[in-house]
Amino acid sequence: MTETVQFDSLGLAPELLRALTDSGYTTPTPIQAQAIPLALAGGDLMAGAQTGTGKTAAFSLPLLQKLLPFANNGASPAKHPIRALVLTPTRELAIQVEESVKAYAKHTPLRSLVVFGGVDIKTQTPHLKTGVEVLVATPGRLLDHIEQKTLQLNQVQVLVLDEADRMLEMGFQPTLDAILESMPTQRQTLLFSATYPEQIQAIAKRVMTNPALIKIKSTHDSSSIEQHFYHVSDDHERMIALRMLLLQYQPE
Ligand code: AMP
Repeated sequence: MTETVQFDSLGLAPELLRALTDSGYTTPTPIQAQAIPLALAGGDLMAGAQTGTGKTAAFSLPLLQKLLPFANNGASPAKHPIRALVLTPTRELAIQVEESVKAYAKHTPLRSLVVFGGVDIKTQTPHLKTGVEVLVATPGRLLDHIEQKTLQLNQVQVLVLDEADRMLEMGFQPTLDAILESMPTQRQTLLFSATYPEQIQAIAKRVMTNPALIKIKSTHDSSSIEQHFYHVSDDHERMIALRMLLLQYQPE
């Protein structure tokens, strides 16, 4: 029989464990059980995991723990430089990730912020000026801020590339390269990706040092999913969808 790993055996700080209890989490998911101790040990990590596996907590918790010695209530922005950067391909994911970071950091004075494109950059600058330890960003908007000197990444200790395969698919490679230029090379890098095309292997080689590798099997078995395409008018869409569902669930 395999023993179930508990959050309190992973080496997490009490204030983070409290936040997990508040979130209603009882046991770590497989990616969390594997990634958290490795990331806490301080090395680079490359993890294969899809959305829905709990990957956000798998990188957020070790990242927050690493920053705990720097957590403070000082009013000066200089006391709150960006120490961790999480890059995500889309605005939706960025918002979601930052909400999770906030929830896990709720019993610490660590601050987080999300910046993404499609909104006026000037609205983000005052928030950045107050100082945040954890920044979650989409690559394009982050580069805009770097170029406008509205933020600095020279104190970043942890870089997370979330859904790295999607970032590369979306053509963010040159933007990533430019962002990496303004960051210390001495840092911990955690890369999460659902797939491992050659491009990912190449970037991993460039941005990481001897990364530990973790691969989690997807909980969704797509081999049993059938896809059909029907061209229907808007008026008929609901009716046809309902009919298909009813046909699907008709008793034998
Ligand atoms: P993610 O894959 O990080 O997007 O997480 C998927 C969902 O699982 C989110 O709604 C999380 O809040 C939730 N979640 C993450 N870790 C756990 C856990 N250990 N126990 C219960 N729910 C979790």
